[in-house]
Amino acid sequence: MLAEVLIIGAGPAGSACARVLALAGVDVLLVDQHPPGRDKICGDGLIPDAHKALARLGLLDAVMRRAQHVAHVGCIGPRGGRIDVPGSLAVLPRRELDALLLQAARDAGARFEQARFEAPLEQDGRIVGARLKHGDEIVEARAQWVVLATGAVPKALTAAGMCERHTPSGVALRGYVKAPQMVDRIKALEVVWDKSVRPGYGWIFPAPDGHFNIGVGVTDSHRDLGGKGRKKDVNLRAIFDAFVEKYAPAAELMRVGDMVGELKGAPLRCTLTGARWTRPGLLVTGEAAGSTYSFTGEGIGKAMETGMLAANAILAHADDTTARAAYEASLTALKPKFDLYERANRVNAHPWLADLLIWRAKKSPRLLARMSGVLNETSNPGNLVSLKGLSRLFIE
Ligand SMILES: Cc1cc2nc3c(=O)[nH]c(=O)nc-3n(C[C@H](O)[C@H](O)[C@H](O)COP(=O)(O)OP(=O)(O)OC[C@H]3O[C@@H](n4cnc5c(N)ncnc54)[C@H](O)[C@@H]3O)c2cc1C
Repeated sequence: MLAEVLIIGAGPAGSACARVLALAGVDVLLVDQHPPGRDKICGDGLIPDAHKALARLGLLDAVMRRAQHVAHVGCIGPRGGRIDVPGSLAVLPRRELDALLLQAARDAGARFEQARFEAPLEQDGRIVGARLKHGDEIVEARAQWVVLATGAVPKALTAAGMCERHTPSGVALRGYVKAPQMVDRIKALEVVWDKSVRPGYGWIFPAPDGHFNIGVGVTDSHRDLGGKGRKKDVNLRAIFDAFVEKYAPAAELMRVGDMVGELKGAPLRCTLTGARWTRPGLLVTGEAAGSTYSFTGEGIGKAMETGMLAANAILAHADDTTARAAYEASLTALKPKFDLYERANRVNAHPWLADLLIWRAKKSPRLLARMSGVLNETSNPGNLVSLKGLSRLFIE
């Protein structure tokens, strides 16, 4: 196999990267270990950065024709207080979203093969392709660039010599419930903080056709407690049950609705940490590079955005060193946004902060507007990143 660019992983990051490159006339081979139409365990929420990325890919209208439109993130505190933060939001199950993105990459001219990345091919210190498991065969695919967009499971990162941290930043679990009778009751992306889900949150997101995506996520799930191999004991199923018991709309949803499929869990890699971003001939993008936001666990938008950044670096620079430097600089420019979400993570650890924030925001339209600005990425989070700025968010 031969291509100008070999992209491993056909999630939002890989497909976005493939589409941009293929539209520019680059010969792209996109591979994934699963066939098109695979599922991805996710909350399926599309926040404003995802809308922007989809618009840049020319796919927003196609996605919004199928997605459930949503106008607010409903933030609910342990004492039941609630604020609704306005934003451009939507929900589309990943099976559909990712199939649409992959098809868009193929429509642009990228070739797709179902194959599993096993190891990079190296020549004179540069990656020049990959060894792939294609059916029962091991084949070599040669390329000028390899882009690793393999998501939160670190196996491929490790095989490529790019993994700096094997443990995830967090873990989350979700299920689908069909409950048309709840459609008028749950209209926002509901995010619920409570001691029962600490350090994390529970969610209910309204999906198309009377379905709901319900789940819980826990950050900092694999913090080493000291001593060899001692990790926190996180039982997501028990946390999910506690969330359902504690949050009345979740209890009602589970009572009146029909579960579709099983509850399933998956890891997250956040804050642009845990992996090297480049080595000669190779760029790491999407969640493999840690492109998911801490605090909220949202990552579809930034996966597409970083995938497009990788594509742009390859397109703009013929030389390996300058292309890698440009890509690293573009990721570094995103860091303040990720750092803000990392700092906000303290709300997950101390849910009473959510009560305080909700209480303040109810009294301060300016604070609510600022939160909406951060969600919509229309206001620069820079002034919120400092401790002073963050405390102003809580104390103003
Ligand atoms: C429970 C849960 C809820 C979430 N909720 C939300 C949400 O509501 N909104 C949001 O924006 N984000 C959410 N996220 C985060 C979001 O799912 C990720 O940020 C996003 O999927 C990252 O996209 P990606 O393209 O980088 O990786 P992925 O979507 O994981 O795609 C990686 C692809 O690489 C392929 N691959 C991996 N290894 C190999 C290999 N060796 N060879 C070939 N192919 C390989 C995989 O099969 C996969 O198709 C959630 C995550 C979890 C776990």
